[in-house]
Amino acid sequence: MKTVCKFGGTSLAGSENVARCRDIVMADSSRRIVVVSAPGKKKGGDIKVTDLLHECYLKRFDLPAFSAVFAKIEETFREIASPLKNFPVGEELCIVRAQICQPEANEDFVLSRGEYLNAKLVAAYLGYAFLDAAAFIRFKGGELDLSATLSLAAHIETEKGVVIPGFYGLDEEGHVKTFSRGGSDITGAIAARAFGCNLYENWTDVDGIRICDPKIVPNSKKVSEASYRELREMSYMGASVLHAETLLPLVGAPVPIVIRNSFRPDLAGTVIRKKRTDAAEKENIACITGKSDYTCIQISKMLLDKQLGFVKKVTSVFEEYNINISHTHSGLDNLCFFVERAEYIKISFENFVKELKRRIDADKIRAHGDIALVAVIGHGLSGRIGVLADIFTALKDAGISVKTIYQSISECNVIVGIENVRLADAVRALYAALIR
Ligand code: ASP
Repeated sequence: MKTVCKFGGTSLAGSENVARCRDIVMADSSRRIVVVSAPGKKKGGDIKVTDLLHECYLKRFDLPAFSAVFAKIEETFREIASPLKNFPVGEELCIVRAQICQPEANEDFVLSRGEYLNAKLVAAYLGYAFLDAAAFIRFKGGELDLSATLSLAAHIETEKGVVIPGFYGLDEEGHVKTFSRGGSDITGAIAARAFGCNLYENWTDVDGIRICDPKIVPNSKKVSEASYRELREMSYMGASVLHAETLLPLVGAPVPIVIRNSFRPDLAGTVIRKKRTDAAEKENIACITGKSDYTCIQISKMLLDKQLGFVKKVTSVFEEYNINISHTHSGLDNLCFFVERAEYIKISFENFVKELKRRIDADKIRAHGDIALVAVIGHGLSGRIGVLADIFTALKDAGISVKTIYQSISECNVIVGIENVRLADAVRALYAALIR
């Protein structure tokens, strides 16, 4: 048995918390691969080290401003190092400071130094070796290069225990490249795959996955088990569980992931497996979540059903304008594309419409803004007779008008488009109606 433990920023905020994580690792001899985030917030009002590093990067040519921010980073790491007798924290900080002030230091390199320093410290707490992510995690064309990563990792010895900084690797030119924010979750999955672990424990400050965002439904039920598919849907639709790309390294070589609370290690957490095992859980809904600020671009053309290659022509214009499509659905004589508002506002809609009209001779093209998509996710949906009736009755009773509906035949979600401002009300109403 070999386990990878990934500790998130809040779990590692301050020496007391780091010591708690050390005790967790030491309590089980299978926990030999440890992945860490940069220190997070201890209390509200604190700033995460990664955000401070970002500020440092912006202020790197203004020495007094840079020094003021770097001093906060220094304070954080010195405090974490305080119980360690022989750790040269001053020297390490000095090196990092000099490196991030170099004119050639790129932004990703600067951002990655929180994980780098924290991994060195956690390695000293545990008596494990520090294993730099730069030694094996590779990117190609801006994306994780999994096969290069796995072949480099095959030569690395981890039996005696290693601590790996999360969040980054190297690109083709040998420069540090980070994943998007929260990307240490992906590093945990890479480590699980690369070093043949049977379990990936993701230690956070929450007891596991809740059906709803606690800010909307306080104390909503905890989910004991979810599938990979459900996790993908949840992350994509806005539930902040794990980074949305966490599962990528595990495709084809699944490893169960457990989300656990480092402040309550006595609790079992939520297990995410390729397929759910518990028959009773199958009946359940895993998540009710949603995302606001979508724009629906509706393209109408009479006798659309007779036009061969129409969708291809339309989507090629989206591609040329670099607009990422989040969802689509079609009706008789019209096609709807849901895009995030950020995608919509970056283009000139007038030019986009002109181009579309030129290519496909559409009758009408309209943009409908301020749409939220609320999603009910769970394999249990397919076997639950009347669930759609329950969903729409709940929304009707809450006085929420439905603008669009989507349910795919094989997948585990129902997505409903509503007005932006009613998103939280919709989540609350659906929770009350669907979860017993
Ligand atoms: N430290 C990075 C962030 O704050 C990465 C991570 O924590 O996963 O996003």
